[in-house]
Amino acid sequence: MSFISTRVSSSNPIEFSQAILSPSAPKGGLYVPSKLPQLDSDFFQDNIDTSYKELAKKIVQMFNIDIEASVLQDAVDLYDNFDDKNTPVPLVKVKDDLFVSELYHGPTRAFKDMALQPFGHILSHLAKKENKNFLILAATSGDTGPATLNTFKNKPNIKVACLYPDGGTSDVQKLQMTTMDANNIDVLGIEGNFDDAQSALKSLLASKTFKSELQNSNINLSAANSVNFGRIIFQIIYHIYSYIALLSQKEIKNGELIYITVPSGNFGNALGAYYAKKMGVPIYKILTTSNANSILSELINTGVYDIREKSLIKTISPAMDILKSSNVERVLFDKFGYERTLELMTNLNKQNYYILTSSELECLREDFEAIACDDSYTLSIIKKYSDSGYIMDPHTATSLKAYEKLKKEPYKMVICSTAEWTKFAPSMVNAINKDDKAYTDHKALSIVEEKLNTTMIKSVKELFSKEIIFQKIVKKEDIEQEILNFIKS
Ligand SMILES: *Cc1c(COP(=O)(O)O)cnc(C)c1O
Repeated sequence: MSFISTRVSSSNPIEFSQAILSPSAPKGGLYVPSKLPQLDSDFFQDNIDTSYKELAKKIVQMFNIDIEASVLQDAVDLYDNFDDKNTPVPLVKVKDDLFVSELYHGPTRAFKDMALQPFGHILSHLAKKENKNFLILAATSGDTGPATLNTFKNKPNIKVACLYPDGGTSDVQKLQMTTMDANNIDVLGIEGNFDDAQSALKSLLASKTFKSELQNSNINLSAANSVNFGRIIFQIIYHIYSYIALLSQKEIKNGELIYITVPSGNFGNALGAYYAKKMGVPIYKILTTSNANSILSELINTGVYDIREKSLIKTISPAMDILKSSNVERVLFDKFGYERTLELMTNLNKQNYYILTSSELECLREDFEAIACDDSYTLSIIKKYSDSGYIMDPHTATSLKAYEKLKKEPYKMVICSTAEWTKFAPSMVNAINKDDKAYTDHKALSIVEEKLNTTMIKSVKELFSKEIIFQKIVKKEDIEQEILNFIKS
């Protein structure tokens, strides 16, 4: 199968491996598959007994990608390292019509592992095969960093430099990064917030000296965020799996429609659901939720994407604190074609807004509905559901608002749970105690354990006694030199 840019006519298709290695497509676009494989209606029933990883392999192979079967097998075998190798993604029944797909049972306790684990294996394999060295630069608000470092640690031909805002992540997230012991990674705290980390990365990528130094050292740049289709492909699988799991739990009949609800930031997870729907999964609607940074729900509700007057608001669901959400572009392309996508994206880049026509909005809403959920509502959800026995993190909690307010049809709903509560323990305590005190993660974790009669996973507990390897907090102007030293080391 070939991959094309969202912003030019499809005259220059490339293979999957190329789209993974150099993910920026012509005219600043993103790579998308030229067509999607189709699942026939028997597919779901026929795969009731297929394991998650075998299903992943089967579906990825339907994309006809230029990756050998043995490499793909090794990649999906990494799901064996999740909590339960037989069920890496449990689908948990919370109410008669409400199910949670727990996507956080991987090594770094956030759904980013679902795609980054296999993706890291494939990227490193390709780099080695082509005898090239790659640098992955990551700016993180807390979940992407640990998951990226974990998947690439000690992998040949790859180096990872990760920037996190000092004070802008939870203690657990920070420890996951700073205690990681590997010979090919660098972790730098920077003075400032996530915006600063991202803009530092941008100016680095634009720097002439940096580029020429990379060239001299024979190092190529790639990206591990969800602009890379190598991540998106693994984010389609679990939505298909949810449908099959509902069938196998006898909760639905084959062909019955369901809702999928996704707490969204960069829209990668929601895009995966959209592709699953287009491939034939009977999804009635994809509901997306935002926090107080409600740019995505505004787009889906009004057709207007406008960041002119907006600045980033810090919330208790930081992985959804976003203004420019990259993967919306792939949906726009799929619905309206490359010319219109180029026009809309050019507007966004030059004027910081774009407006869909009313028929375009209608077309978008055939597949999506959305709602924003502020922090106080999020806290009340955490409290309400933990009182009745289901513990969820603040990101996942935003999606319960969609269950309460947007679900109009009697169809069953699957909510994607994107992180484990252990990564956001202080907010959990604020919710349970209805207070707004500042807790350390260490203290908050034990309060939650006691109050909710649960236990944190060993890998989180152990973080607090591990040696901290990366201590450095750097100023913006020193980042370039730091990373150059790291590359040459
Ligand atoms: C990354 C992340 C999100 C947002 O996912 P997107 O695919 O970027 O929309 C939501 N919740 C958590 C916990 C995350 O780490």
